[in-house]
Amino acid sequence: MGDLRCSLPRYFAILEGEQAAHYLNCKYIPVTYDSSTSTEKLWKVHDAAITTMDLSDELPSQSLLDLKIELAHRIFQNCHFCERRCAVDRRTAKGTCHVQQSLIASEFLHIGEERVLIPSDTIFFSGCTFQCVFCQNWKISQQICGKYTEPATLATMIDKRKHQGSLNVNWVGGDPTPNLVYILEALKHCTANLPQIWNSNMYCSQETMKLLNGIIDVYLTDFKYGNDECAQRLSKVNDYMSIVQRNHRTAYHTAEMIIRHLVMPNHITCCSKPILKWISKNVADAPVNIMAQYRPEYQAKDYKDIDRPVSLEEISAIKQYANTIEIHGL
Ligand code: SF4
Repeated sequence: MGDLRCSLPRYFAILEGEQAAHYLNCKYIPVTYDSSTSTEKLWKVHDAAITTMDLSDELPSQSLLDLKIELAHRIFQNCHFCERRCAVDRRTAKGTCHVQQSLIASEFLHIGEERVLIPSDTIFFSGCTFQCVFCQNWKISQQICGKYTEPATLATMIDKRKHQGSLNVNWVGGDPTPNLVYILEALKHCTANLPQIWNSNMYCSQETMKLLNGIIDVYLTDFKYGNDECAQRLSKVNDYMSIVQRNHRTAYHTAEMIIRHLVMPNHITCCSKPILKWISKNVADAPVNIMAQYRPEYQAKDYKDIDRPVSLEEISAIKQYANTIEIHGL
């Protein structure tokens, strides 16, 4: 873990009780607004508070976390949590992700994540902003399942998990993005000093990234593709590269980060290598987990290029390439 202490200093400081998780600090940053304030003005108040990060000694009557919840509710009513920007009113309709109300498919102490993260209180939401034809988790990402849990009830569970040994709260799905209002409301009730992990495909809108700033301690990102064509064909999303690269840059400059890359068969030249090259030039200190566990699942049999496990030769080639360009492997 020596190297990871250098890459994730805040994460370790929170675990050791030397610093507070971002979301706890957010509760102590006073702001002033009311429900009639325009959204444009609310963003100005938000951005000023994030810049100064001026903490008060006592809980203020209105905090930056409250303001983030207000802004998230407004986004929810004209949904643009992700760059699909469906603009649906989620109080009455679903967008492409099929998420209206947040449903939790499972919540448990996960021991299958990166060693530095386990045991991790992992909260799997149903639904996803992507439609990956090879999804290994398609039963929860592409079908609506799970149940609604009151945010206050989830917060109690999160606090209880800390006593059972959880090192962090790991927001995932599917993808956590459509559930941001719910997540912020749960955090309003939480008290545990636990790092917050955003485990995501990073197709969030800029507005979502702004709301996550000051809440998320570690981004656990899933960098899938090295070009827009593969992203469109296999996950049905547009403009993948510019959006995901933009959000990786933001994450890198506002929090700590671990990048995951799942190597896919026949996608070494078009995806794996360009991704690693971009990482080495833009977010060079981020640790990268090169994952070899791809198996053809869900609809992958209909796509000849990905209808087999990744080979040892492919994994070895990409790991060698990563070493050559000095990627920080996990
Ligand atoms: S989160 Fe869902 S509803 Fe909202 S913009 Fe994205 S796909 Fe559409």
